[in-house]
Amino acid sequence: MINYFKTIYQVSKALLQGMAVTGRWLFQPAITVQYPDEKLTPPERFRGTLVFDKETCTACNLCVKACPTACISLEPYVDPATQKRIAKVNWYQIDFGKCNYCRLCEEACPTKPIKSVRHSHDYEWSMKERSEMFVKWKRDPSPVIADTPKDTGTKAA
Ligand code: SF4
Ligand code: SF4
Repeated sequence: MINYFKTIYQVSKALLQGMAVTGRWLFQPAITVQYPDEKLTPPERFRGTLVFDKETCTACNLCVKACPTACISLEPYVDPATQKRIAKVNWYQIDFGKCNYCRLCEEACPTKPIKSVRHSHDYEWSMKERSEMFVKWKRDPSPVIADTPKDTGTKAA
């Protein structure tokens, strides 16, 4: 009999404790955002879609080596007059189907003060086809020598 009332006491106590937690939040202002009409500002180090700056990239390949999923590829620019490689890219491609948004490419990139490859705060980007996940930035006017067969998507820098 004692156990019976002890159980009722313990269950009631747990119930009241739970309701007290709920009650505390009941009168707090709502934080639900009516997306897409309203949007939150992502935190400073938010890892959104990668962006690339073809003007500052030196084709050093450090991001390619740092990427754990091997989703970055690039072709350095070769000056047609001298046939010498210069510190620029001809094209740069990211396969967003493999990218895990780890930021290792951005951390490896040596360009200052702004990294040539870096995460933006853009999270509103979707693709319907696998082919759209290959995003390629080309030097303009584009002297692309050999395009990859998978290159079907191009996103502005
Ligand atoms: S964020 Fe990570 S996975 Fe994506 S391209 Fe950069 S290094 Fe590769
Ligand atoms: S994006 Fe940065 S790390 Fe990658 S090749 Fe260009 S300069 Fe080098």
